Amino acid sequence: MSEESTVMLSALQHYLFCPRQCALIHVEGVWTENFLTAAGRQLHERVDRRGGETRRDVHLATALRLVSNRLGLTGVADMVEFHRHDSPTDEKGCCIAVKLSGRNGFWRPFPVEYKRGFPKAHRADEVQLCAQALCLEEMLGVTIASGALFYGETRRRSNVAFDAELRSLTEDVAAKVHELLRLGKTPPPVITKGCRGCSLFETCRPENVGGRDSTRRWIRNMLEGAGV
Ligand code: SF4
Repeated sequence: MSEESTVMLSALQHYLFCPRQCALIHVEGVWTENFLTAAGRQLHERVDRRGGETRRDVHLATALRLVSNRLGLTGVADMVEFHRHDSPTDEKGCCIAVKLSGRNGFWRPFPVEYKRGFPKAHRADEVQLCAQALCLEEMLGVTIASGALFYGETRRRSNVAFDAELRSLTEDVAAKVHELLRLGKTPPPVITKGCRGCSLFETCRPENVGGRDSTRRWIRNMLEGAGV
C-alpha cells in the first residue's frame, strides 16, 4: 500500500466516535483544540518523547513509529513495553517474543495507550490499541495477545485482550475509514451526546443541519447532559 493511501491510527478512534468528525479532521484537515483535547495532549507529552529504558525484566519504548502495509495504517505508539520471556514462542509454538538490540534473551511486546478521562462505554480506545498491536505484529512477526489502556482520571490500567471479535472490529473500521477517505465526502452530522465534548463542535454546528427537529433534539441532548 502506498504512503498516500495509509491513514493515521487515530482516524479509527475518530471514526468510531463520529464519522463526520473523522472526515472533518482527515479529509478536510480541520483541527480545533478544546479543554478535552488539551488535557489529552498534556498526558501524551509525557510519553511522546522517543526513547527507551530497561527496568528489570521490562524494556519501555516510547513514541515508537508503527506501520501496517496490510491495513494501510501508520502512527505512533505511546508506549510499547517489552516483557522478558524465556523463549520466542508460547506453548502452542506461536512466535510471541523478539530479540532486542543490545539485550540478551527474548522480549514480548505489550502496547500501552494513555488516555485522558475515564474508561468509555464505546470501543474506540480498544480499537486504536488493537490497531497498534496489529501494526506491531506485522512489523515484528509475532502474535500479541493483549495490551493495556491507562486512563488519566482513574490513574489505572485496564487490560485489553486482542480477541477475534476486537481484531475483526478493528479491521472493519480500518476498511471504513479508507472508504471514507477515498470518497472524500464529509457525512452530515448525527447529533449525539458526544457532540457536547466534541472539539469540532463550532466548526460542525450540528444544530444548524437537519431543520427544526434536529435543533429540538440537540437542545434536549444538551439539557439532559447538563442534568436539567
Ligand atoms: S459536533 Fe457532533 S456531529 Fe459534529 S463532528 Fe462533533 S460529534 Fe460529530
